[in-house]
Amino acid sequence: MSNYKLGLEYALQQDQNDEFSTYRNQFHMPKDADGNELIYMTGNSLGLQPKITKDYINQELEDWANLGVEGHTEGKNPWLHYHEFLTQTMADIVGAKPLEVVVMNSLTANLHFMMVSFYKPTPKRYKILIEADAFPSDKYAVESQLRHHGYDDKEGLILWKAREGEELANYDDLETILKQHGDEIALVMIGGVNYYTGQFFDLKRITQLGHSYGCMIGFDCAHGAGNVQLNLHDSGADFAVWCSYKYLNSGPGSLSGAFVHERHANRKDLNRFTGWWSHNKTTRFRMRDDFDQLPGAEGWQLSNPPILSMAAIRASLDVFAAAGFDKLCQKSKQLTGYFEFLLNELNNSDIKIITPSSPDERGCQLSIQVKNADRSLHTKLTEAGIITDWREPDVIRCAPVPLYNSFKDVYGFVERLKTILN
Ligand SMILES: *Cc1c(COP(=O)(O)O)cnc(C)c1O
Repeated sequence: MSNYKLGLEYALQQDQNDEFSTYRNQFHMPKDADGNELIYMTGNSLGLQPKITKDYINQELEDWANLGVEGHTEGKNPWLHYHEFLTQTMADIVGAKPLEVVVMNSLTANLHFMMVSFYKPTPKRYKILIEADAFPSDKYAVESQLRHHGYDDKEGLILWKAREGEELANYDDLETILKQHGDEIALVMIGGVNYYTGQFFDLKRITQLGHSYGCMIGFDCAHGAGNVQLNLHDSGADFAVWCSYKYLNSGPGSLSGAFVHERHANRKDLNRFTGWWSHNKTTRFRMRDDFDQLPGAEGWQLSNPPILSMAAIRASLDVFAAAGFDKLCQKSKQLTGYFEFLLNELNNSDIKIITPSSPDERGCQLSIQVKNADRSLHTKLTEAGIITDWREPDVIRCAPVPLYNSFKDVYGFVERLKTILN
């Protein structure tokens, strides 16, 4: 890892040796007005479209056109069971058992549904702990859950903050918080990979710590799924949720994944919101039976799902399965390590990488803080043919994605950034 070299020559050579270099061609790369490929570094926000996605969606459009309602049972991929086509490949990506995983709804909605079951406040234990710079939607969601149960959303929310002058959350501080407030905290809900800093938390460590104080543990893995090895089952977490449109390349607003640990698979004592899709599959269409809970994560479904979005997820998961997620993660470490190397070699005291430098504590994203920068930096990058993500007050988030970004992309990005900063 330490033998990265400067210069375009090296980047091109790395691309030539890269077993995933052909995968770039399996994606639609955004282009500028003259037809030149842009440098796309925003797979952490919206992943690119696999070329096979259109075929997967067209198949379902055709079955709908030709079969109408019969497509539920007679289609090439019967819609009645369509979500099951996604279960194994999705479970593989997040490191879970098929019983523990379901694709349904959208992300923030799933977060709420999970809290219906796993946030069970009592007058003594009602607080929720989140990381201080949690994704806003998650913060709003937990605050509204507190209010929904009649608690004050300021008093009931405990923030795990980075120390003064630091950007990353520190595990010692988490232990201190739990030591002081552990018996008041009902739920610990952390972003598995923080969207802002790119810090990949130790899910197992947080889970064990939280459980030792009797708290429920949930993770929002929107920035982890398809980016890092989450090993959700082994983490022991009670639940997790994630979206499929970031690293999982399934299209804007596409469906979310949910994980419920198998220890909860058959519990009937949990609060749940239910619908006909939570009901036993074999008797679901008798329509008159008393409610009969499906076991496992599937039991949290409510509705029959949108097949067109599921087709896009299926296409994307098939690309991941063909590539092999383990090997992709290895390339990711190489590529992001190279990115970090080039940025450090700029020797520019105006920029600081706030993402952890240890490859085990991050995914592919690097968050670069630029002193005295404002949005005009982002505009200049855009004009230079680079798509990145700007976060107020002074951070650009860049994610070289191993499936479709090249070493040449990373080289080109750093070269153009250098020119702009000078
Ligand atoms: C992207 C993201 C969301 C977005 O939520 P939607 O419900 O899909 O709009 C929420 N939380 C986190 C942590 C995210 O990264």
